[in-house]
Amino acid sequence: MKASSEMTISKNIWDVVVIGGGPAGMMAAGTAAMELSKKFALLEQTGTESTRAPKVLLLEKNSSLGKKLLITGGGRCNITNAEFDTRIFLSKFSGRNRKDDQFLFSAFAKWDVQDTLDFFNSRGLETKVEALKRVFPATDSAESVWDVLEAYMKEGGVTVRCKQSIKKFTQKDGTIESLTLITGEEIRARSFILATGGKSRPETGSTGDGFAWLKEFGHSVSESNAALVPLTLKDTWTKDLSGLTLDDIQLTVFQEKTEDTAHRIKHLRTKGKLLFSHKGITGPTILNMSRDVGELLKYGDVTIELDLLPSKAPDVLHAEFQELLKMNSNKKVKNVLAELMPAALVQPLLEMTAIDLDTFSHSLTREKRIELLKLVKALPLHVKGLQGVEKAIVTSGGVALTEIDFKTMRSRLISNLYVVGDLLNFDRPSGGYSLQICWTTGVVAGTSATQDSLD
Ligand SMILES: Cc1cc2nc3c(=O)[nH]c(=O)nc-3n(C[C@H](O)[C@H](O)[C@H](O)COP(=O)(O)OP(=O)(O)OC[C@H]3O[C@@H](n4cnc5c(N)ncnc54)[C@H](O)[C@@H]3O)c2cc1C
Repeated sequence: MKASSEMTISKNIWDVVVIGGGPAGMMAAGTAAMELSKKFALLEQTGTESTRAPKVLLLEKNSSLGKKLLITGGGRCNITNAEFDTRIFLSKFSGRNRKDDQFLFSAFAKWDVQDTLDFFNSRGLETKVEALKRVFPATDSAESVWDVLEAYMKEGGVTVRCKQSIKKFTQKDGTIESLTLITGEEIRARSFILATGGKSRPETGSTGDGFAWLKEFGHSVSESNAALVPLTLKDTWTKDLSGLTLDDIQLTVFQEKTEDTAHRIKHLRTKGKLLFSHKGITGPTILNMSRDVGELLKYGDVTIELDLLPSKAPDVLHAEFQELLKMNSNKKVKNVLAELMPAALVQPLLEMTAIDLDTFSHSLTREKRIELLKLVKALPLHVKGLQGVEKAIVTSGGVALTEIDFKTMRSRLISNLYVVGDLLNFDRPSGGYSLQICWTTGVVAGTSATQDSLD
C-alpha cells in the first residue's frame, strides 16, 4: 500500500468513470462507490488516508437511466434464474462449439445467483420464482428493480450525469487517460468501466457505441449476427395472400398479456412495407424488426397490428367510408372496400368481421361498419416465430471473451478498462440469464476497478 501523500488524488480525477447507465453500469457504479467508501473508512482507521468521498461518475447518453431495464420481462423484469448450482446455471451459456461457461466461473465465484437475490431482498425488494425458475420482483414491476439500483448508487454517492455525449478517449501507455465530451470537457479517471450494452432495441440507447470504442482500443469485436429473418405466422388466412405487398402501412408490435403480464404492452411502432409469403411475412421492415420480435417471443406471444390506412385518422376514415357507402348504396360492400385497399384483403377482412360477401352497402349495419374499420386500422397478425432461424447462428455479438480477465472483468489490452453486461459476446438464453450476467460482471468490475484507486 502506498503512503498517504502519494495517494492524494487530484480533485479533477475521478476514481471510477462508468459509461452507460443500464443494469450492468448501475450495478458497477453503485458497487465501486460502496467499495471505495468501505476501503477509505478502513484506511482512515489505520491512519494511511484522510477522509475523502469516493469519486464515482456515471455517464449516460439518454435523459434517464435503465430504459431497457424498464421493458425487461414484459415490464416485470425477470431479474435472474433461481438455478443455484452455478455449474448448471453456466452450462446454459455454452454457445455452439464453444465453452463460454468456462469464462464465467471465476466471476460467479465472486457473485452468483444467491448473491443477487440477497442483494435485492436485503434492499427491500421481495422476489418470487415462477415457471422455469424465472425470478421476478413480487411487485411485478421492473421499476422497483430500477429503484433499488438507483438507491444503491445514491447511498454510495455516485454522481450521475445524463444526456452526455462522448467524443473520444485518450490513451497513454496501454491505459485510458481521459475521455472528452462533445462539449470539449475532459474527464480523467483512474479506471473506466464500459457498460454501453449491445445493439438490440436501439431506441433504448443501446446503439453499439461501446463496440466501436472497443475496436478502437484494439479488441476483437464480433458484430451481432442475430439473423434478419422473415416471420412465420399462426394465422392461416394469410396463406392466400402470398405475393401481396402492402406499401406505406403502419406496424405496431405488441407483447401479448400472458400468465406473467397483467396487460399487453406496445413495443415498436414503425411505418413501412410488408410482403406476404407462403409461410408468413417478410420485406425490409419485417427483417429489421425480426431480432426484436425474436427477443419478445422469449417472454410470450407477440402480435403485429397493421394499420392499413395510416394516413387517415379514424374519424376521417369513418366519414369517408360512410360517404362512399352512401354514394354506392346499391353496390356490394366488398366492391366499395376494394376502392380503399388491395382487393386480396377484402375477403379476409369481411370474413373476420362476419360480414356476408354479398352484403349491399345500404344494408351494412353501423356496428358492422365500425367493426370493419377497426380492423382496417388494427389488423392483427399473430407471430409464430422467426423463419429459418434454426439454421442461422444467432449470437448477440460483442467483445471476444478471451480478451477479458473474468476474475476482474478487466480488459487484457487496456489495463484500467473494465467491460460488463451485454458488451460481452455470450449466447444468452432467456429466463433471467442476461441480467444475472449484468449483476455479476457489474459487481466484479465495480469491485476490481476500485483497486486502481488504491494500488
Ligand atoms: C424486450 C427485452 C426484454 C428483456 N427481458 C429480459 C429479462 O426479463 N431478463 C433478462 O435477464 N434479460 C432480459 N433482456 C436482456 C437485458 O435487457 C439485457 O441483457 C440488459 O439490459 C443488458 O444490460 P447492459 O447494462 O449491459 O446494457 P443496456 O441495458 O443496453 O444499457 C446500456 C446503457 O448504456 C447507454 N449508452 C449506450 N451508448 C452510450 C454512450 N455512447 N454514452 C453513454 N451511455 C451510452 C444506453 O443509453 C443504456 O442506458 C431483455 C431484452 C429485451 C430487448
